[in-house]
Amino acid sequence: MNNDSVNDPECALRHLLDQVVAEIRETGNRTGCYTLSERVLGALTAVPRHCFVLADQQAWAYADQPLPIGRGQTISQPFIVALMTELLDIEPDAVVLEIGTGSGYQTAVLARLARQVYSIERIPELATAAAHRLSQFGFTHVEIRADDGARGWEEHAPFDRIMVTAAADEVPAALMRQLKPGGRLIIPVGAPYQTQDLRLLHKDEKGVVQSCSVLPVVFVPLIRDRD
Ligand code: SAH
Repeated sequence: MNNDSVNDPECALRHLLDQVVAEIRETGNRTGCYTLSERVLGALTAVPRHCFVLADQQAWAYADQPLPIGRGQTISQPFIVALMTELLDIEPDAVVLEIGTGSGYQTAVLARLARQVYSIERIPELATAAAHRLSQFGFTHVEIRADDGARGWEEHAPFDRIMVTAAADEVPAALMRQLKPGGRLIIPVGAPYQTQDLRLLHKDEKGVVQSCSVLPVVFVPLIRDRD
């Protein structure tokens, strides 16, 4: 199954992106997003997903599905990565905060689009492995930290864009505070291991926040370190 991912990753990636583009179009009436921009498509084309999945998952690297990455965590489904990235509308000079680095795959996609990416992962082994992978790709404008991302990254705030790739029962207040006026934040909101609501939030120039519901999704939970 999907031997292409091992023998011909470029062909498998092209096939996957055709599928993702079709799925984006088909779900457009629910998500409000019917197409992928050239920039986002270019970023997805440039990041080889097989380099971010475990050795025993290589055969499925270009299937449109989430995959285990160890420690009970998953790399997101490519369709969801594409949708969340597109909805965030990242401009080339943007400073982006990502919560839930995981494998570093989504981080790499963000790094293709933004001026600077800060990413926080609570499991130190995953953070270290992702940082290593990203440095091998030559990204020098990505910084990864092992911590509870729900507190944000005060030192580098405010951020133009924030992406959270783990499900929270509510939008963490620190992240809302650290979002710039005019900024966007995307996050799955809901109970762990149930269907959650992918939400896109806009903060206007006066600081007023509007939230819209995009799609039902299932993410691993955002785990808070209470202090
Ligand atoms: N975007 C990732 C997948 C994320 S899975 C990828 O492309 O591979 C969600 C990740 O969020 C997991 O690695 C999990 O450990 C992490 N996570 C959960 N709670 C967190 C928290 N409070 N702060 C930072 N990371 C968290």
